[in-house]
Order: sequence, then structure tokens, then C-alpha cells
Amino acid sequence: ADPERKNFVRAVSNAAFTHIPLQAAWPAPELIAWSHDCAVDCFDLRLSSEERALAARVFSGMELLPGSVPYAQRYGGHQFGTWAGQLGDGRAISLGEYVNRNGQRWEPQLKGAGQTPYSRFADGRAVLRSSVREFLVSEALHHLGIPTTRALSLVGTGESVVRDMFYSGDPREEPGAIVCRVAPSWIRFGTFELPALQGEPDLLQQLADYCIRYHFPELRGVEATKEGERVITAAASAGNGAADIPDGASSSSPYVRLLLEVARRTARLVAQWQSVGFVHGVLNTDNMSILGLTMDYGPFGFLDAYAPDYTPNTTDLPGRRYCFAMQPTVGAWNVLRLAEALQPLWGGESVADAVAAEYLRHFQAEMHERLRRKLGFGSWREPEDPQLVHDLYEMMAEDRCDFTRTWRALLRVQPERYREEVSNEEALAPLAPVLGDAAIQNPERQQRWAQWIRRYCQRALSEGADALTVRGSRMRAVSPKYILRNYMAQQAIDRAEQHRDYSEIDRLLQLLRRPYDEQPEWEREYDKPPPAWAQRLGVCMNSCSS
Ligand code: AMP
Ligand code: MG
Ligand code: MG
Repeated sequence: ADPERKNFVRAVSNAAFTHIPLQAAWPAPELIAWSHDCAVDCFDLRLSSEERALAARVFSGMELLPGSVPYAQRYGGHQFGTWAGQLGDGRAISLGEYVNRNGQRWEPQLKGAGQTPYSRFADGRAVLRSSVREFLVSEALHHLGIPTTRALSLVGTGESVVRDMFYSGDPREEPGAIVCRVAPSWIRFGTFELPALQGEPDLLQQLADYCIRYHFPELRGVEATKEGERVITAAASAGNGAADIPDGASSSSPYVRLLLEVARRTARLVAQWQSVGFVHGVLNTDNMSILGLTMDYGPFGFLDAYAPDYTPNTTDLPGRRYCFAMQPTVGAWNVLRLAEALQPLWGGESVADAVAAEYLRHFQAEMHERLRRKLGFGSWREPEDPQLVHDLYEMMAEDRCDFTRTWRALLRVQPERYREEVSNEEALAPLAPVLGDAAIQNPERQQRWAQWIRRYCQRALSEGADALTVRGSRMRAVSPKYILRNYMAQQAIDRAEQHRDYSEIDRLLQLLRRPYDEQPEWEREYDKPPPAWAQRLGVCMNSCSS
């Protein structure tokens, strides 16, 4: 691909990727932030202070590491429910693949490093604002224990980029930046959808074979060849596990097994988002990782006050397709698009019902497991426990309680004390800091909350005294105290943009390394709901491709 050629940005057919002759020349590359954890975990790398200038050049694409062959991937996707055709890496350029000392493969990718054949109408750039957010949240989700792509570095380019934040017709210049983000693979659902929908069956199969070989080796029991399936190891007899795949051509296909595994991972991932109040914001199929990782962070947000219809994405209004409550459904919808794309690989018979059932089963199992631990229980009991959660969420929605702080406040409730009669006031005391005056002062609301707490404590007591001793540590391990709230990211961005002061980015990176720990030294600053300025509509919202 020669950037000088007129057809550089173009429709590409029958290819999975395009080599990019990466020769970036930024006016003033500057290393703004660096994730030491990611460098060590993925690349066995410890950066010295003398190496910072070099890192700024390497991780902005100005200097290529030996052996690096940069490329951009081709993919398509369903955007907001509609097939969008070819999309591809329009502003992301992979540098190649690194196999670390543990034998893990990691693919560093520069987001915002310039145009590719897939840039369509856009400039291939990224702004500091969205780059700070992606850098911080990638590492924050990792430390929450939620599958995600990682972030290694954040480099300022020294160049201005023009953006119209809210499509207001009033564009402004913003500093340009590049995140080096890292994943074992950047393959998406849309990577398979494009060849499937463009009639490129050989490419579709090559991609699926590649995926299985490098990223799902446990599925390699059966290897597909042109002549049909060839058994290469004993693992082939392992079958499909619990899934109800109808007997037929599909039942032993490695591609069906791949699909089911992606369905399971996606289901578990979405359940984990729901359990910490994370909203991705743009769950188009081109933003869905084949590995079940959270990826392509844009207008994401964590719930502040609990609101099931919360979306952080201005582009998603008024439909709210990707709001908090819709994520589990949308995850399934996306998996079904992948199922359709892969279907030709096993002779065209639909496995949609089995895939949907597998997704639902794994979503529910993971969700119940997370909720059980958030409630501090040793087992999950139906129907009483789902009812308990349902009622809690209903009260939280009515009283606009902060999602993270309410769950964490449950830690302070002491079921032991409920062996005796407890007054409403006493019952509410542990939750008083998150309830707000409206609920505390309204006798009816007060009564509802107190009753719920009594019910919750009786349920906890029913497991016996031993169960209570592990209750706190169980809850603390799944209900974080610190999350990356949009206003926190915004404060770091404001300082960076206005004063070139990057210290807040580093502070948040440090804080969010231990989201479940008390860290009392940070409490006053970061264990609180958003301040009034941040609650104004729009201040902390973002659009899709900023
Ligand atoms: P997103 O909404 O960020 O997932 O992006 C959707 C598609 O638009 C992807 O193919 C991106 O590569 C492309 N895209 C977004 N922003 C830009 C940009 N500034 N330059 C080129 N392509 C972009
Ligand atoms: Mg790879
Ligand atoms: Mg994307």
C-alpha cells in the first residue's frame, strides 16, 4: 500500500490485512504515561528513565523495532444493528507479534498512528482525551480481573487534531496522542463477518483455522482440511461439552466448538461488566473480541447512580441500544451474528438455538456467581437470592444510589446483630452514606430499605456462623472500592490538556492497580460520587469515534 497512490484508502477484497509502511514523523513525540505492569507482564520489559525518549519514538511509530512488520487488519461489522460493510483498522497499526518468556503471544498496536487503507473518510489520528481514557481503563479493567486488552504507553505527538466533540458544528483543535495497546490478538467478530458476507469462503476458513491454531489450541483436536476434517489428537473425542448441538455435520466441527467457546467467553465477560457497572458504550460487532476481551474503548462509562438505561455514548441517544441493561442481550445478538458468519464452515446448518442456549447458561452461571459473592453468601439460592438483588436494584434506581458505593457499603452491614430486634435507624446506619437525604428522611423509603436489610441479614445468618467469617473477604474481592469514573478521567485529561501536567494520569494508574483494596490514603479524593459539575449532561459523555 503506497500512501501516495490515490486509492490508498480503499475497499480491499479477499485479504485479512494490509502491510503498512509505517514512517510516522510527529513534531514532538513525548512519553506521557507508561504502564510498568503491562511492560513486565507482556514484554519482559523494564524501562529506564534514559529510555523514555526512545520509547516515545518507538511507540508512536517513528522508529521500527527490528523484525517488526506493521500491518492493519481488514474487518467489517454490524453498527447499531445495521451491517456497515468494510471498516478495518482505520487508525490502528499493529507492529507485529512478540512471544514473551512465558511463551505468550502479544500484539502491540498503535492507535492513532495515521491513515491506513481502512481509514475511510477519517484522519487516522486519535486525540489525547480519548487516548487517556483508553490507556487508563484498559489497565483498570485488567486490575479488576476482567478480561481486557492492555495498554503499554501513551505518547503525545505534538500535533493538533481537529475534532467536533458533539457534532455541534463547532470543531476545536485538540492535542494528538497514540496509545500502544496490547492483546494476544485483535481479531473481532467483524473479522469473520466481512469475508462471510462478501463471499470469500476460503479466507473465512483460513481465518478460523488461524484462530484455532494460535488462540484456541485446546480446540485443535480436529483440524479442518480441504478434504474434510482430519483428527489429529485424541482430544477430538472430547465433543462439545455441555452444549446441545444437534447430531449432524456440525456436531464434531472444530468451528462449532470455536463458536461455542466464543459464546461462553462473551457471556462470562458481559456478566463481569454487569457485576461492576461497566458500560462499554459501542457494542458493535467490530468491537467484539474473538478472545472474549473488552476492547475498543471509546465512550465507555461506569455507573455512578444506578440507572439501568445509562449509556455514556452521545451517539447512542435516544435509542440506548448499548445501555447498561441491554448489554447481556446485545452480547447474545452479536454472538448470533458470528454464528451466521461461521455457518458455511460446517455445511450451512444453523446452530443458533444451541449457541443462544450456551450463551444464556454461561451468562447466568457467571452472573449468579458474581452476585453471590457480592452479597457475601456461600451458595446461591433460588428464588430468594435473585429476588433480593431485584429488590435492591429497584430501590437503588428509585433513590439514585451510587452503584459501586452501595455494593461496597453492604460490607459494613453486620448480620450478627440481626439475631435481635434492630430499629430502622440502626438498620440503615451502614448504608446512610450512600442513601442520600431523600431516602433517609422519607419514612416509607426508610422502611423499605430497613426491611430489605433485615431480609438480607436473615438470609446471611441462615448459612451459619462460619459463613459469616469469610463474608467480608468474599465481598471485598468482587465489589471494587475504586473505579475509573468518567469525572476522574476528565480531571486527568483537563490537567494534561491545559497544563501539560500528566501527574493525575499516573496517580489514577496507581490507584486503580488495587481497586478492591481499602487504600485509605485515597479515600477522601476518590471514594465518592461525581461532583455536581460532572453530573451535568454532556460534561462526561463522549461520542463513538472521538
Ligand atoms: P470505533 O467507533 O472507534 O470502533 O470505529 C469504527 C471504525 O471507524 C473503525 O474501522 C475505526 O478504525 C474507524 N475510525 C474511527 N476513528 C477513526 C479515525 N480518526 N481515523 C480513521 N478511522 C477511524
Ligand atoms: Mg495474533
Ligand atoms: Mg472499533
